[in-house]
Amino acid sequence: MLYTTVESKEHIIDLPKRVYIGNDLISSIREYLISLNLSDPFLVVTGPVVRMSITSKLFDSLSNFKYEVIEVKSADIEEVNHVEEFAKQIKANVIIGVGGGSVIDVAKYVAFRIDKEFISIPTAPSHDGITSPFAAIKGMGKPISVKAKGPLSIIADIQILSTAPRRLINAGVGDTIGKFIAVRDWKLASKITGEYYGDYTASLALLSAKHALSCTKLLNKDLRAGVRILTEALISSGVAMGMAGSTRPASGSEHLFAHAIEMLYPGKGLHGELVAIGTILMAYVHGINWRKIKKAMKRVGLPTNAKEVGIPEEGVIKALTIAHNIRPERYTILGDRGLSWSSAEKIARETGVIS
Ligand code: ZN
Repeated sequence: MLYTTVESKEHIIDLPKRVYIGNDLISSIREYLISLNLSDPFLVVTGPVVRMSITSKLFDSLSNFKYEVIEVKSADIEEVNHVEEFAKQIKANVIIGVGGGSVIDVAKYVAFRIDKEFISIPTAPSHDGITSPFAAIKGMGKPISVKAKGPLSIIADIQILSTAPRRLINAGVGDTIGKFIAVRDWKLASKITGEYYGDYTASLALLSAKHALSCTKLLNKDLRAGVRILTEALISSGVAMGMAGSTRPASGSEHLFAHAIEMLYPGKGLHGELVAIGTILMAYVHGINWRKIKKAMKRVGLPTNAKEVGIPEEGVIKALTIAHNIRPERYTILGDRGLSWSSAEKIARETGVIS
């Protein structure tokens, strides 16, 4: 952890100590944990869809340690309480999250609450929560991320990540492309409200978005190479959030739109898919090349029309008109007043998000 001073206020930068990225890393987990000086007992948090081929290798690698395993089905506060209770009961020193976004979210939020180290072993590159110090937990009021424990280490096994369902990989692209908007909103907010804006951090988030955009070509030709770039982009985005101390560089009006849909239509569409649609809409509002972004999304098979994720036309318009209220303290292009019904409809129609 580094400490710097920004505008005479203490600013804490939370970064992962070590990132392992490569192939067949799971069998080496034992060595990684030793080299990180971590002592057992460990609590492995996993999910019902995590493949046996992954968990059995992991358990083999952990065989000389004391560890317990707990399965979570969703990222909600009940699961968090349940896992926390178990972690305390077994006196876990380290929480190891192995799975998709929900598993990782629960694991890092529990680690934060009991102040233990957290190791992230993502099995799908579906959003940047796999690398960031923030978690999306349902049942805590608004559908926005809360502070969680940043991973001490990220173990990104490309072999595993590239065999995740393609829809989850695409969602990761969508979540990352959203940074084009998030960074613009952040810069705009700094001009309008005087909010702190970190140029270096913003550049890092922007770089993630550029990588995600360029990997849309690579993913169709060489999936593994594309997933590696996407994973690096997700890690950079997580690091940018750790540097900013907030989700600001990674979440702007495109995320507000996604959160509005998540509130209005829980369970419809993946987070990254909704962010992708939000990115097209907000790129239009910002006056940037939304057609180029939409084309890249189509290339990988991301939904670009609300119908594809089961959202009715009026749902999109409604979400656009309420998005600015979700996080009023976070200034974006939507301003304090948000969009009127007619301008929201125009934006949605012209971009083809509704047809
Ligand atoms: Zn996101």
